[in-house]
Amino acid sequence: NGIQDAAAIKAIDSHSVHRITSGQVVIDLQTAIKELVENSLDAGATNIEVRFHNYGLKLIEVIDNGSGIAPADYDSIALKHHTSKLASFEDLSTVLTFGFRGEALSSLCALSDGVTVTTATSSEAPMGSVLEMDRAGEIKNRNGKVARQRGTTVSVTGLFKPLPVRRKELERNIKREFGKALNLLNAYALVPCTKENRGVRLTVTNTPEGGCVRKAVQLRTDGVPSIKSSATALWGSRALDNVVDLELEFEVETEKAVLRRQKLTVIRSGTTHVQVRGLISKFAVNSGRTTTDRQFFFVNGRPYNPSKVQKAFNEIYRSFNANQSPFIVADFILPTHACDINVSPDKRTIFLHSENNLLEALKVSTARR
Ligand code: ADP
Ligand code: MG
Repeated sequence: NGIQDAAAIKAIDSHSVHRITSGQVVIDLQTAIKELVENSLDAGATNIEVRFHNYGLKLIEVIDNGSGIAPADYDSIALKHHTSKLASFEDLSTVLTFGFRGEALSSLCALSDGVTVTTATSSEAPMGSVLEMDRAGEIKNRNGKVARQRGTTVSVTGLFKPLPVRRKELERNIKREFGKALNLLNAYALVPCTKENRGVRLTVTNTPEGGCVRKAVQLRTDGVPSIKSSATALWGSRALDNVVDLELEFEVETEKAVLRRQKLTVIRSGTTHVQVRGLISKFAVNSGRTTTDRQFFFVNGRPYNPSKVQKAFNEIYRSFNANQSPFIVADFILPTHACDINVSPDKRTIFLHSENNLLEALKVSTARR
């Protein structure tokens, strides 16, 4: 009838804009945990505790003994694109820390009921500041003080509450989502990537909802920087029966895509030395496993989800043992120019230049064993 509500179209407020654009980094419980643990590793922590309350529905909390955050940096902690880890765009190709986008904490603020950061550097310890953040990542209360050794605690309550559909989804699948988060924490427990190869003690607990239920330890490592001792801490020494060191070294041809006369062509760009370090169940002995639940892959210590590489390993293994899957932990150590961690916003996809050549080399070198 031509009569329109003049106010029907309104600018969406900046909080909503922020919420929409924050959907990229923290997409589920697992990525929320990943970002927090990586921040702790980046801060040089040697002790990290991850606490879930009601499987993470109520609260997730990551407590570390890392560098802490200096008071001068409080205001920029959770502002989008504020990061202490990257000074220039060129740094992107050589960055060794996990984080560098300054998006995780800002996203968590936008996507939860509340984020509280408690932190102390060695100058403030044994007192720490308690910083309550609002949805926009600004500090709404900075006056809290609490006894705190050097380090940082980040607490997130009500993950995804501002997004009712995603919250429903999380509640409905919480056991599975919690399992995925634990699986990722297993990966960090096995190979905590640190430049100095320092040991990291990782403890994960869950406090179920209700009454006087005690918190249950989900996993705990001893902080010895060895894949073997972490695997023993996670699954017991029996798990390592019939498991041997995985040590491979080979050259792969690297390729790069170049744009020539508006056509994308792949050219050979040299060779790269690849080292593989880890554990694998012996080819000659049945692993006793039919599932792939104990297969963990890394690139330079970063958890990496390589469906192709994993498939190749399983195929090689099955040619010795029908229907068996190996227990495997494999860290591919290669120069940073041979892989690209920047392709996906959540940094879970690590792109290996010439993954196919890597697979060929892998098949050849494992067949020789
Ligand atoms: P990024 O990790 O990409 O820099 P984040 O949003 O994850 O961005 O973190 C923002 C900044 O907050 C970091 O650059 C770092 O300076 C600081 N920070 C976050 N978590 C911690 C922590 N656990 N210990 C010390 N500093 C931290
Ligand atoms: Mg980060």
